Amino acid sequence: MARDENCRKGHEPVRMCVFCKGRYPKGKLMRFVAVNGHIKRDDTAGFPGRGAYCCTSRRCLERAEADKRGILKRALKI
Ligand SMILES: [Zn+2]
Repeated sequence: MARDENCRKGHEPVRMCVFCKGRYPKGKLMRFVAVNGHIKRDDTAGFPGRGAYCCTSRRCLERAEADKRGILKRALKI
């Protein structure tokens, strides 16, 4: 991952969608953060700390919405 970013210097960092495991430029992903043990969508990317990313495909958004398997929770270590 770090090596990948070095090779793409000047480009947007790439993050992984926690649902489909696809890699996308950070700007194309939604970030979720844990705030006091609750999952919050970070629209401004301004929250500090660990974030989990979700791509904007409908399938992944639906999964993020329901998160029946607790994937976001696990990613955020809640
Ligand atoms: Zn995805």
